[in-house]
Amino acid sequence: TEMIVARDVHKWYASNQFHVLRGVSLTVCKGEVVVIMGPSGSGKSTFIRTFNALEEYQRGKIVVDGIELSHDVRNVDTIRREVGMVFQQFNLFPHLTVLQNVTLAPTWVRRWKKAQAEVTAMQLLEKVGILEQAKKYPGQLSGGQQQRVAIARALAMQPKIMLFDEPTSALDPEMVREVLDTMRSLAQEGMTMVCVTHEVGFAREVADRVVLMADGLLVEDATPDVFFNNP
Ligand code: ADP
Ligand code: ADP
Repeated sequence: TEMIVARDVHKWYASNQFHVLRGVSLTVCKGEVVVIMGPSGSGKSTFIRTFNALEEYQRGKIVVDGIELSHDVRNVDTIRREVGMVFQQFNLFPHLTVLQNVTLAPTWVRRWKKAQAEVTAMQLLEKVGILEQAKKYPGQLSGGQQQRVAIARALAMQPKIMLFDEPTSALDPEMVREVLDTMRSLAQEGMTMVCVTHEVGFAREVADRVVLMADGLLVEDATPDVFFNNP
């Protein structure tokens, strides 16, 4: 099953005519883990942000779980619920506890009862290994712990697809592993994932496909074996 189909996607900025996406195509099937690599400024972040309508694009076509992403607001709402996203900066709400961060969207967007949302949230916090921190505030946690809260928060909406945009780039080296381990177990459970990351070890071991972007183009799309053994 095709979960994401992007065809010939173009995006440019009218202000300076910068053409950030120059005709990018990618298909991601259910359960696949795709890692996107490439130099800074090559359009990786912009590209994956089109998958949940955080970025508009001028030309091409994007279909996510059978829904064509247009400027139709109803589609955008549906897509945001189906596609979870984790950013480089954890983007947690600093004035809410860990538990409140994870229950906020399910109670407000999905209209779950607070008790039900909390049960689910506690399960997710246990899964990402931070159940003990549930009553703390983000500022009291390490970066690695905060990023795992951000993953739990995204999962609380029961997304079909998870997007990761350099999730370990803002972390101290000793915290990178715990976040990658969380992502790895998510992949093993069959989550469809698109990950922008420079973590070669993760790409080699977890990715089904590794994609290389350069100057707004997708220049390689291969299995990790082929990708990393090509000169
Ligand atoms: P990557 O994720 O590969 O580092 P990005 O998707 O963040 O790349 O690339 C963004 C590119 O688009 C950068 O070169 C940035 O300068 C440019 N860009 C972002 N926003 C604007 C804007 N509003 N106007 C013009 N250029 C922009
Ligand atoms: P990051 O590398 O942190 O992802 P971005 O490339 O997304 O940063 O840029 C951060 C902000 O700056 C965005 O709001 C983007 O629109 C704006 N921006 C980036 N590059 C340019 C540019 N060349 N001209 C105008 N705005 C830009």
